[in-house]
Amino acid sequence: MSPATAVERLRANVDKMKSLQYRQEQLRALLRCLHENEDRWTNALKKDLHKPMMECMGMEVEYCRNEIIIHLNNLDEWTKPEYVKKDLIQVMDECYIRKEPLGVVLIIGAWNYPVQLVLCPLIAAISAGNCAILKPSELSEASAALIEELLPKYLDKDCFAVINGGVKETTELLEQKFDHIMYTGNSNVGKIVMAAAAKHLTPVTLELGGKSPCYVDKNCDIDVAARRIAWGRFINCGQTCIAPDYVLCSSENQERLLKGLQAALEEYFGKDPKESEDYCRIVNQRHFQRVKTMIEKTKGSIAIGGDSDEKDLYISPTVVKDVQPTDALMEGEIFGPVLPIVTAETADDAVRFINSRDKPLALYAFANDQKVIRDIVERTSSGAFCGNDTMMQMSLSTLPFGGVGTSGMGNYHGKFGFDTFSHKKAVMLKALAMEKMNGLRYPPYTDQKWSWFKRLAGKKEKSRGGLFSFLLFAVIMTILAVLIKFFG
Ligand code: NAD
Repeated sequence: MSPATAVERLRANVDKMKSLQYRQEQLRALLRCLHENEDRWTNALKKDLHKPMMECMGMEVEYCRNEIIIHLNNLDEWTKPEYVKKDLIQVMDECYIRKEPLGVVLIIGAWNYPVQLVLCPLIAAISAGNCAILKPSELSEASAALIEELLPKYLDKDCFAVINGGVKETTELLEQKFDHIMYTGNSNVGKIVMAAAAKHLTPVTLELGGKSPCYVDKNCDIDVAARRIAWGRFINCGQTCIAPDYVLCSSENQERLLKGLQAALEEYFGKDPKESEDYCRIVNQRHFQRVKTMIEKTKGSIAIGGDSDEKDLYISPTVVKDVQPTDALMEGEIFGPVLPIVTAETADDAVRFINSRDKPLALYAFANDQKVIRDIVERTSSGAFCGNDTMMQMSLSTLPFGGVGTSGMGNYHGKFGFDTFSHKKAVMLKALAMEKMNGLRYPPYTDQKWSWFKRLAGKKEKSRGGLFSFLLFAVIMTILAVLIKFFG
């Protein structure tokens, strides 16, 4: 089916999705689709990225299942009219925000979490009552094929469509008019998506990437920090948008951290990670060459790993020490299993370094002293922040997931996804009675009308000493009352 035909068909059916019950049915159907095909999902993910079972389930299938449950459990609450505070002149009116579907939305996914990055936005789009076209990444071929095969078997084909393909197909899709586009991927394509959306004035959510820093303070349990950093950096072979991209730590701590990382990596993947069932692979030759070239070009010294096997798309977990800020590894997002360590002697140095670069998608800081961590939270800007761990911020659906500045715009997960795909319609319902009151705003305008209007609608700044003034007033009135009683 051509993109134009697909959009036309879905647009003719947007009313179906207005029913809450229908949205719930579609969400439950998607739940069945995940549950009844667990083996097929995990096999596809294994084929695409050599993902181990626990990551297939925890980061993809089960992650989406949990997201569906959150939406099913809260949909009634989220869709209720949200009554708002009123002023004196609206006191007789009914004023609320109504959450409405946007219409037909486009979801473009990336390859690194090929199931989650397409289905989580879809769950939010369904829950908010939209029809959706999905465009999975062509790089994770097996997952994309499975999404195209399975979804039409479970979801209403009049409301949802999957279109697979690469640049040509995505370009054709982007020529269509959508009511919202959610794109996940690199920022160069993000600009293409935004420019195409601008032609139709379509709003966009861009889930992009960038270099996410990780500061390790002098005063810190280095072994614990090393375990948590190694997990976040090397899960999915480093191909995670919120993975710590580089470490900032003092020269004194570097050697201790390296020992900790070495021990953690051996514990996770054994002496030879290539033999480990739990270590993923690079998605394709192009990305393999890209990461390998970065390693070859670095002027830092490889302290751990550095091995590769092109035929197997394998690059071992690699840690590079004494990396300069101008190094090849520090130019763009690494998006592979390489962790450079850059020197920052103090938290102040780290903050200066972070603030001199693009705003990251995620920022991590490890320190025994919570004051050091809170200080970094306050002095930096990033999509998300996690203190004393990596990546775990995304395990909580009451926190928004998204970037800031060049790392993205908009967010989702849980209610944030529902809000992203909803229009908040301002509703004011008035009665036809009390027309005299309205006379104030109609011409002919007079000074008297203006003075009444100001009295009824004019805003006053909140008095800071509100309670104090009230108490003072009460005391003065009491004294006056006593004086009048005895001397009046
Ligand atoms: P990718 O190659 O799969 O591209 C993403 C999507 O864009 C695909 O569906 C692809 O078909 C489409 N596309 C590619 N070129 C296009 C073009 N010229 N015109 C229109 N569409 C086009 O994924 P990627 O970009 O390699 O993904 C990696 C990047 O994504 C990293 O920067 C990573 O940090 C980021 N990412 C971000 C998140 C997040 O949630 N913020 C999640 C995953 C990945």
